[in-house]
Amino acid sequence: MRQAGPVTELRALTVLSGGMGGAKFLQGLLHGVRTGALPDVAADADVTVVANTADDIWVHGLKVCPDLDTVMYTLGDGIDLERGWGRRDETWSVRTELAEYGVEPTWFGLGDRDVATHLVRTQMLEAGYPLSQVTEALCRRWQPGVRLLPMTDDRVETHIAVPDPDSPSGRRVVHFQEYWVRLRAQVPAEAVVVVGLEESTPGPGVVEAITDADLVLLPPSNPVVSVGTILGVPGVREALTATRAPVVGLSPIIGGTHVRGMAEQVLTAIGVEVSAGGVGRHYGARSRGGVLDGWLVDESDADQLPGLEEAGLAAAAVPLFMTDHDATATMAAAAIRLVR
Ligand code: GDP
Ligand code: CA
Repeated sequence: MRQAGPVTELRALTVLSGGMGGAKFLQGLLHGVRTGALPDVAADADVTVVANTADDIWVHGLKVCPDLDTVMYTLGDGIDLERGWGRRDETWSVRTELAEYGVEPTWFGLGDRDVATHLVRTQMLEAGYPLSQVTEALCRRWQPGVRLLPMTDDRVETHIAVPDPDSPSGRRVVHFQEYWVRLRAQVPAEAVVVVGLEESTPGPGVVEAITDADLVLLPPSNPVVSVGTILGVPGVREALTATRAPVVGLSPIIGGTHVRGMAEQVLTAIGVEVSAGGVGRHYGARSRGGVLDGWLVDESDADQLPGLEEAGLAAAAVPLFMTDHDATATMAAAAIRLVR
């Protein structure tokens, strides 16, 4: 944490983000920056997003990056607000035609408008551009108001082991998207395997975005398959340990389960207690080899504070439901106050 002294303005904020939880938080954070609702944050502060790419999947020959696109579409005002992913005013002719051919997978929803994004991305990747440059090109259209960096340009994929009585090992491994979209996370996750993670390198600008930041935020994103995979890219954890910026996170777990999604299933798979305190301690205090200085839990989880403080974390309990941009900006302000 910074030494006490004259208050320095925060000009560079870096956020490690998954898809929907991260995108919603970023909307509120940007709203807070613009309206001056965040303590000590400059009105023209730069926000850099390091996004999870371990959800990425090749479908029908197209490279799909769900978390990058959710952030890009949400901040660029192209998201379908009800679904929380994909394009607004979507149509589904491509999917219907593919189904008529009987082509698998049928469970992955590729909307017509969304397909255009994946076509551009795939074409550029095949022409030799790294994902980071492709993302930059796509963002030229969407103008998300943040610098959006894939955590890595390398292929990294989260796979989930699920029970399968028909297999000799009693289990089978599916792509994360199959676990989430086809199986709806309704079978237990027995293990999480992130293929290619250990061999990956951080994307261009990722390490600098953390080491040169004035503040690093972990939004209420999935601690295993969103933030966990970003932290697993060799060099990222070290950058968090090294940065002079305070690092503060907000719990995606409220009252013993996730607000939406499947954090509970994947936390259980890796043996982490499914509670706001459990996740905070799993990230750990920087002073004790972890990645956080501060951790916010929901007001209903105030009983978790002593355990977090014992683990060396600055902690506070405030309302953590992202009901609208103002509420989310208030959460971000509380996170900043905790570590300033
Ligand atoms: P995904 O990639 O689309 O799964 O999105 P993220 O990983 O960024 O975020 C998913 C997490 O956001 C889940 O674990 C949710 O519990 C959490 N989440 C969603 N809405 C809220 C909210 O309003 N408040 C809090 N505290 N967490 C939320
Ligand atoms: Ca995701």
